[in-house]
Amino acid sequence: MKSEFDICIIGAGMAGATIAAYLAPKGIKMALIDQCFKEKKRIVGELLQPGAVLSLEQMGLGHLLDGFDAQSVEGYALLKGHERCTIPYPGHYKGMGLHNGRFLQQIRASALENASVTQIYGKALTLIENDRNEIIGLNYRDAVTSKIGSVYAPLTITSDGFFSNFRAHLSNNQKTVTSYFIGLILKDCAMPFPKHGHVFLSGPTPFICYSISTHEVRLLIDFPGEQIPKRFLLQEHLDTNVTPYIPASMLESYQKALQEGEFKVMPNHYMPAKPIIRKGAVMLGDALNMRHPLTGGGLTAVFSDIQILSGHLLSMPDFSDTDLIHKKIEAYYRDRQSANANLNILANALYAVMSNNLLKTAVFKYLQCGGPNAQESIAILAGLNRSHVSLLKQFCFLAMFGACNLVQQNILNLPKAMKLLKDAFAIIKPLTKNELSQMAFPYRFLNKIKTAAFFDDPKNCQRP
Ligand SMILES: Cc1cc2nc3c(=O)[nH]c(=O)nc-3n(C[C@H](O)[C@H](O)[C@H](O)COP(=O)(O)OP(=O)(O)OC[C@H]3O[C@@H](n4cnc5c(N)ncnc54)[C@H](O)[C@@H]3O)c2cc1C
Repeated sequence: MKSEFDICIIGAGMAGATIAAYLAPKGIKMALIDQCFKEKKRIVGELLQPGAVLSLEQMGLGHLLDGFDAQSVEGYALLKGHERCTIPYPGHYKGMGLHNGRFLQQIRASALENASVTQIYGKALTLIENDRNEIIGLNYRDAVTSKIGSVYAPLTITSDGFFSNFRAHLSNNQKTVTSYFIGLILKDCAMPFPKHGHVFLSGPTPFICYSISTHEVRLLIDFPGEQIPKRFLLQEHLDTNVTPYIPASMLESYQKALQEGEFKVMPNHYMPAKPIIRKGAVMLGDALNMRHPLTGGGLTAVFSDIQILSGHLLSMPDFSDTDLIHKKIEAYYRDRQSANANLNILANALYAVMSNNLLKTAVFKYLQCGGPNAQESIAILAGLNRSHVSLLKQFCFLAMFGACNLVQQNILNLPKAMKLLKDAFAIIKPLTKNELSQMAFPYRFLNKIKTAAFFDDPKNCQRP
């Protein structure tokens, strides 16, 4: 069937709108379908790590961060009891704190200003398959007329977010809820370290905050468990594990936000990517892969996936050869696994570490020491260092450091030190298996070097 479009994109969220904004000026004809094009108020995707900012700049989309009061972030601050330390991002790299809804509207506008993008306001219902089981388009319900329409294209990108309706056709994923984030906005709040992401480690699970505009700080409070927090349990959690550790300078804004009661609650998923490679369709964003948002790595992964997928698609002369498109989809799934493994492992490992008393103390002291190890660790968190060797090295160093510290304090701490090592191993082993074992060994080795080299090469890291 002759298609009107090269690509149809399900979901004009962070992933779908950004790939449309990137490919549209290159003349790729796209249908961009979403059930809601209005600005949303969400608590997701409000901290861009430097790796995400860098990807945007490399795609020529860095300007989309301008003009809506986004705040630059220069590093992290860790607070545990009365102790505090800061770790700057490496070199000149900066992250951004922002209103996700405002940012998304800028990206969508940038995509839709191109004649090559057709906006479809509707809900994608089903994928259309031909008699060879290849996906050739989709059916949707128009949001205004409620009529059912169809769009055909040689490639469909499903980027319909974490409640994806199309995941079941295109992947073997199993998602788990690790915890919930409760979001509050603190107005006119003085954070102890302006221009820093703050991680509070005093309670049993962490909470974090960062500026998202000149007068607003986002506070995200972790609530452990798979069940959405009930009101009284949430109140108890706040009273016991959060309020006592809010710094004095933030207390007034925090109390005000509690009184206004505008909580937003979101589940935090972990879902390793397990795509089923089918002709005519590819998954992007949370539909494919999710990690705990503690490290703010989601958009770093999304933007780097867009760079990898687009790089492969743009190497084709056009979209007429469906066999070639299929090869490019395979290459994308292969390359993205290595590029994103560190982000996925770190996010879930760090969440587990910060929910474990011995390891939490170890990580605080380890990073407090500063120096090359702290710098290498923050570069991994920032999404600038994607080397798996670096990640595993830093994780082992941390565990050894924590165990040695305990024994140095008192030899009777030996059983605790052994427990710390055992816990560290139990955390990292399944994550490494999920994220790294999917890559064939020779490829894993070569790609590790390639990916590290890409992000280390200064020409890939230049600001426009
Ligand atoms: C609590 C929380 C906090 C987070 N914080 C951060 C952070 O600080 N930094 C960071 O980098 N990442 C963060 N993330 C992760 C990040 O927000 C996601 O990785 C990112 O938003 C994924 O983008 P997406 O396009 O896949 O999904 P979305 O941005 O959710 O977009 C999906 C789009 O698909 C549309 N859609 C859905 N179904 C259909 C359908 N049937 N038809 C048509 N359209 C449809 C939706 O309307 C939506 O516009 C956080 C995640 C959570 C849960």
